[in-house]
Amino acid sequence: MSEWLWDHGGEGFAHVYRAEEVLFDATSPYQRVRIIRTPAFGRMLVLDDAVQTSEADEFCYHEMLAHLPLVTHPAPKRVLIIGGGDGGLLEEALKHPVERVVMVEIDRMVVDATRQWIPQIPGNAFDDPRTELRIEDGFAYVRACAERFDVALVDSTDPQGPSVPLFGAPFYGDLYRILGEDGILAVQSGSPLYQQDLVAEVRRNLRQYFPVVRTYLACVPSYPGVLWTFTVGSKRHDPRAVPAEQVERRVAGMSLRYYTGSVHAASLIAPPFLREVLEA
Ligand code: SAM
Repeated sequence: MSEWLWDHGGEGFAHVYRAEEVLFDATSPYQRVRIIRTPAFGRMLVLDDAVQTSEADEFCYHEMLAHLPLVTHPAPKRVLIIGGGDGGLLEEALKHPVERVVMVEIDRMVVDATRQWIPQIPGNAFDDPRTELRIEDGFAYVRACAERFDVALVDSTDPQGPSVPLFGAPFYGDLYRILGEDGILAVQSGSPLYQQDLVAEVRRNLRQYFPVVRTYLACVPSYPGVLWTFTVGSKRHDPRAVPAEQVERRVAGMSLRYYTGSVHAASLIAPPFLREVLEA
């Protein structure tokens, strides 16, 4: 039995995957949740028709969204994750000597389906005593939050349905309020090829609050167009000013497969086609 999954990117193109097996397929109050097995990328989490993560390349995305902001902060102890239901980002964050990670995911079905069918992505992160998992809307949680954090990471779906407010200025303003004086926020900000408006909008919204705004790149083979962006909003520390030696020192022993001191520096260099977008 095989069927094809079409994950549409921009106008007129898509990544197409042959699904050898559909391991899980159900619809939650928020979205259709599927776990499929593919020959090229192994098991994949698919929400509606968009690939979220896969066995083969989850490290590319999760390492870059987690480690660049966590290493840029001098000594993060309290981390907030919004979204990230597959637990891959949580697992990366817990590799640091943090004391507490609060993860706020709106859809329990995403967490349960990934833990059951792709357990190697979260590993034991959900059982780590430092983890607090909250199943609720991230926008509402941050708006009412009284706790303070050092680093916040937003690993949301692309802007549709419940994730739309997670790209907006009011949400970034609320996050600015609950981040400490060395506070750093990092968000997934879409494709630099076919979501240039989104990248520019995220930067504009972050700049309303954060003096330092930096967009960086990574290759995520299972995402349409492969090249992906993340954007940091920082109160004080500039990821561009982090020496490679500091990165190597901070990630020593984590046996990372993507993020290194030189990748950190290179990811912050925008090629000319993107510089126009970033300067917009
Ligand atoms: N890396 C993926 C991407 O870039 O498309 C995102 C992966 S992660 C699975 C996205 C998660 O965000 C989903 O589990 C979804 O349920 C969650 N999410 C969407 N809107 C949310 C909200 N308002 N509050 C909390 N979680 C939300």
